[in-house]
Amino acid sequence: MVIDFHTHIQPGTDVPHFLSEMDKEGIQLSVVLALGQDQEELEASNRLIAGLVEKHPSRLTGFASVTPTRKNAVKEFEELVRNHGFRGLKLHPPIQHFSIDDPRVSPLMEKCAELDLPVLFHTGGVFLREGIIRYGDPLLIDELAIRHPNTTMIIAHGNPFGPDPYIAGKHPNVYLDTTLTFAQIARLIPRIGPEMLDWMRSDEKVLYGSDANPNRTWRFKYNLDPIREMDVSEETRAKILGGTAMKLLKLD
Ligand SMILES: [Zn+2]
Repeated sequence: MVIDFHTHIQPGTDVPHFLSEMDKEGIQLSVVLALGQDQEELEASNRLIAGLVEKHPSRLTGFASVTPTRKNAVKEFEELVRNHGFRGLKLHPPIQHFSIDDPRVSPLMEKCAELDLPVLFHTGGVFLREGIIRYGDPLLIDELAIRHPNTTMIIAHGNPFGPDPYIAGKHPNVYLDTTLTFAQIARLIPRIGPEMLDWMRSDEKVLYGSDANPNRTWRFKYNLDPIREMDVSEETRAKILGGTAMKLLKLD
């Protein structure tokens, strides 16, 4: 089973096209991540994804987003999970304007541990000028994972040349996704995949993700190809393409 662990769907976009492009690439399920810079955008994104997941439960699953620095963030997230069946939390520190090591993030991390739901953090680059890249430094996840050992965390856009593989390798509760950064580097250096798994000392901490959305469905294949071509056993490939995702989404 192929699961794309990192996609987005914006309001007013062509969802049937998105689903048919998933079919073309043999992707059974996409995790759709809520995204927004402010409360209004976040609420609209959560609402849209809740409706889409309800309509296409076998093809789409959702991660809600709330801003951790808001007083009611924990309550807001819990309600989204209880009322709309969200399967995880998505946080984008650079555009939501909080740092991963902000102590105000802690109550949400503890709530995710209690609900046994994973948290996916955007890390690395951002194109929005007001986005603060330092806030999404993956290095900060190392300490957060020590503080919250029972919270499952995913480093989105995991960088093979950053500390990311080591952080995911050393913490039982940390994973990374291959979205864009890995695919870009694997195109330049095809050996990077097996090397990175060696550094991590595990083939169970990497998740295929694409950042595809209805306007950029080419990203499904762009991110899949380097994994399809990776010089690893079929067993390892199956874990990256969907096996590990099934565990995190409790589909196994
Ligand atoms: Zn994304």
